[in-house]
Amino acid sequence: MNISELFKIKKVVFSLEIFPPKKDNSVNVIYNTLLKLRGLPVDFMSVTYGSGGNISQREKTCEIASLIRSAYHIEPVAHLTCVNSDEEEIRETLKKLKENQILNILALRGDINPDVPPKKVFQHASDLVRFIQETDPDFNIIGACYPECHYESNSIEEDIQNLKKKIDHGVTHLITQLFFDNRNFYSFLEKVRQTGITVPIEAGIMPIVNKNQIERIVSMCGASVPAKLAKIINRYADNPTALKDAGIFYATEQIMDLIENGVQGIHLYTMNNVETAARISDNIQNIIAAENDKSGIQ
Ligand code: FAD
Repeated sequence: MNISELFKIKKVVFSLEIFPPKKDNSVNVIYNTLLKLRGLPVDFMSVTYGSGGNISQREKTCEIASLIRSAYHIEPVAHLTCVNSDEEEIRETLKKLKENQILNILALRGDINPDVPPKKVFQHASDLVRFIQETDPDFNIIGACYPECHYESNSIEEDIQNLKKKIDHGVTHLITQLFFDNRNFYSFLEKVRQTGITVPIEAGIMPIVNKNQIERIVSMCGASVPAKLAKIINRYADNPTALKDAGIFYATEQIMDLIENGVQGIHLYTMNNVETAARISDNIQNIIAAENDKSGIQ
């Protein structure tokens, strides 16, 4: 199934992101996570891809995506980065994905790791998008976008011009980097639409459930933290259970506001935290169902 087609039949698409177990952990540890996530009313589940040099780590993406389809009957999306790969490696990965009937790919460049020199075969995600299209047009290709600008771009306008190249090469839908302030998303959306990009855009939401997490996330992706969220984090920093409740509440409010303002999809960065994903899903599932009913396209 081409998951980008979902936007034609649903007003609000709901998806989850999970990551493969780290380093030497067996894929078995993800079984438990998936088992608990399986009852959630999700339209698709995406699996991240390690862009470093560790091949066995990379292979886990295909393995887990395949499991999501076969054991849980949920449509999988495999993330794929290109910064450390050559054409042969990408061709091999595409072959494996197709053999496993994984035909939806989130095509990414990947972050440049100072310890792993890039292969320079694929300079940007748009090169990967073009390569996938040329290799096998059966794949549906999704892309990433950045409401607060990608850290290598000089301006949001420049970043959006580059984003357009991905669309021109065949990306059919976009998922945003996580953000905590919806105003940044709305302003980004306006600029994107003015540039003539019309593909559906899902909003990436990450619930903050502990203090270390926010520090790590902000340093990794540069998302700005609005005063309201900063206050919540400081207020409950020493009370993990209260902070978790508050983080879930904040993410739920963010999603409600996005839905009220016509967002086409919500992509929840679960961090493999089943309880949090389930609580947020519980909070919003009737609302999403009502939106889809109201539009008469569910
Ligand atoms: P690109 O689209 O190539 O953009 C990177 C930079 O290059 C931007 O500044 C852009 O403006 C510029 N640029 C793009 N095209 C051109 C061009 N043609 N000419 C000049 N400049 C250009 N990382 C992982 O390692 N594994 C994952 O699974 C993963 N999943 C992600 C999922 C989502 C939804 C998001 C938002 C990010 C994810 N990332 C992942 C992180 C991502 O790899 C990094 O953000 C990376 O730095 C950029 O990837 P990209 O595909 O957006 O790159």
